[in-house]
Amino acid sequence: MKEKCTKFKSLYLFRDEAELEEHLKECPDCRAEKEKMDKVSELLKEVKPYYAQQRRKSFARLKVACILFVGLFAGMLIGYFTQLGHISSSTAYNYSETTDTTNEYGMPIDNYGLISLN
Ligand SMILES: [Zn+2]
Repeated sequence: MKEKCTKFKSLYLFRDEAELEEHLKECPDCRAEKEKMDKVSELLKEVKPYYAQQRRKSFARLKVACILFVGLFAGMLIGYFTQLGHISSSTAYNYSETTDTTNEYGMPIDNYGLISLN
């Protein structure tokens, strides 16, 4: 019984194309092996655009998620700082107008216009 030729992989990986072609002409085992490889690479070529499209789609989704997150975060920050400014300006205003130790929200404040908790 003739043993199956195992040269294909080493020829394919380590030798040049001409040498491989030469061997393929006289070796049916390697021809079969090469056909299998060709089928796989054809399959990969067929599948590749689909995967690229999927990747683009998920990248677009990631971008949208990032933009939404940044927008939300910026909105929260802006809201937080405008509220802070509002509170401190109103308390400063209150403080200069009156010597009352409560601000317009009825909360007790200290000399710095900050809410005091004691
Ligand atoms: Zn061979």
